[in-house]
Amino acid sequence: MRRRRTECNRPGPGPRYSRVMSVLTVTGQGLYCPAGDFHIDPWAPVDRALITHGHADHARPGHRRYLATDTAAPVMRHRLGAIALDTIRYAETRRIGAASVSFHPAGHVPGSAQIRVEHKGEVWVVSGDYKPEPDGLSDPFEPVPCHTFISECTFGLPVFRWRPQAQVMAEIRDWWAENAARGRASLLGAYALGKAQRLLVGLGDGAGPGPILTHGAIEATCRVMRAQGIALPDTVPVTPETDPRAHPGALVLAPPSALGSAWARRFGQASTGLASGWMALRGVRRRRAADRGFVLSDHADWDGLNAAIRATGAERVLVTHGYTGPFRRWLAEQGYDAGIVATAWEGETTEGDAE
Ligand SMILES: [Zn+2]
Ligand SMILES: [Zn+2]
Repeated sequence: MRRRRTECNRPGPGPRYSRVMSVLTVTGQGLYCPAGDFHIDPWAPVDRALITHGHADHARPGHRRYLATDTAAPVMRHRLGAIALDTIRYAETRRIGAASVSFHPAGHVPGSAQIRVEHKGEVWVVSGDYKPEPDGLSDPFEPVPCHTFISECTFGLPVFRWRPQAQVMAEIRDWWAENAARGRASLLGAYALGKAQRLLVGLGDGAGPGPILTHGAIEATCRVMRAQGIALPDTVPVTPETDPRAHPGALVLAPPSALGSAWARRFGQASTGLASGWMALRGVRRRRAADRGFVLSDHADWDGLNAAIRATGAERVLVTHGYTGPFRRWLAEQGYDAGIVATAWEGETTEGDAE
């Protein structure tokens, strides 16, 4: 994931943001709760970090203490090593200092959470990354009533409207079957945490024209999830000894960065595809060197963002991650007290792998 430094820690322009941020504020490390003395998804090392999910732009190394859901924990340990990680179940309330916190399903990847923080009767919810459409893998997104909602808006423009997952899966199956009929492997680029397993669950029912093979990075994440009891269809890990001819009609899941690499060349004249929300934009697929783009995102689309925000009942919405400027303006036009939370890391961009 590419990181770009943006206006870290600088309040957005105008009175819309500079109102007192009572329950949460922003420090040089990230979103901070003074009442509980903790940060949420901080981008620089802190004493106590509450983490929404295991993607690298949210779960950074170097914090002294971590708190995440029990479902997110195994992948975080896999990625961050021996961290001091305490876990919490969805909807369990915990007192931290003078604040009470709870984690609620965000529907983004397994274990992903929105974090609810309450102090003196005022409730704030930090969405993390979220996806309202159930994906058959993650605990489904649940709206959490609050006064202030901090919402990601990775795809916060009206051009981003997803079709139902079942339709996209059918499209991918057709492409896979076509390639198999022509004697070609299908190389599908998908992020190793979340998207790859969602595709596995959607496509791995044995009805495809061949087996599903996995790149090492994806297989490693699958192994962690299987070990924690998440049911995933069978896969064949690709190793240096793997002979593609032994797996006719294969669908090969690999991180997008592996498409077009030496690793992919072993599959010869394969067809390449990418599954990402960014495939909704012309030009992105060409830049990423894929034959086919499938619009499949683990984030909310335009309608999903708007519906999720409405469902919280929040009067104030602070946006972060993505098209913050236009999305804030749109929300202000809808009557919300809307602002922007500037973050130091914009991890998930068109250049990133995560969507
Ligand atoms: Zn994420
Ligand atoms: Zn993210």
